Amino acid sequence: MSPISRRHLMLAATTAAAVAAAPRLALAQTAAQAPAGPFKVDPLTYPTNALEPHIDAKTMEIHHDRHHQAYVTNLNTFAKDHPQIAEKPITDVLANLGGVPDAIRTGVRNNMGGHANHTMFWQIMGPNGGKPDGEVLSAIDRDLGGMEKFQTDFNAAGGRVFGSGWVFVTVTKDGKLAIETRPNQDNPIMDGKRALLGNDVWEHAYYLTYQNRRPDYLKAWWNTVNWKAVAERYAAAKAGTLGV
Ligand code: MN
Repeated sequence: MSPISRRHLMLAATTAAAVAAAPRLALAQTAAQAPAGPFKVDPLTYPTNALEPHIDAKTMEIHHDRHHQAYVTNLNTFAKDHPQIAEKPITDVLANLGGVPDAIRTGVRNNMGGHANHTMFWQIMGPNGGKPDGEVLSAIDRDLGGMEKFQTDFNAAGGRVFGSGWVFVTVTKDGKLAIETRPNQDNPIMDGKRALLGNDVWEHAYYLTYQNRRPDYLKAWWNTVNWKAVAERYAAAKAGTLGV
């Protein structure tokens, strides 16, 4: 064999090895990051055990990495055939579900609602969440009868949600608060309102620790609220810049 054809063969072998390796790498990346956008789940800004003993680490892990991820995976599947659902802010799409094609409207309602709800949920929780103060506390006193009545009423409303859903505090642009519930993964944006905060009362949010004792979960959940994040959301709502 001439030196030239020998080098050619070696080069070909190297290239073949590189080609063979490439799909494996791509598959591994796909599995780790699945699915590719346009929608994605942001990582938690605190460890999964940060909310213990009120919310256990396994629940946080499954809830964030599997339940929230499933809504986002479904959205990305819809976006393959209907890329327009990713071209506007989520708030705009949810505020105008009538503009979403019939074939995917219910799916977008459920899965984009779920994406919005959970994005808010992770944001308004955290360790060492403090207590409400300033404008938020004033609004709670003014509109919800003070902290004690507010928490009692919020827990009662969450307890009355039949099946799966959410209990929210909604906020208007002039800062007025109200306790409201929604079924399934509906979000107040769908009827022109905004969530200041909300608690997930789907069983997947609490079942490992609390089983059927939703009222115990609702009571304990207050220990996980990050009031600094809530204050930031309140300011953004009044400024008209609140996202999901
Ligand atoms: Mn959930």
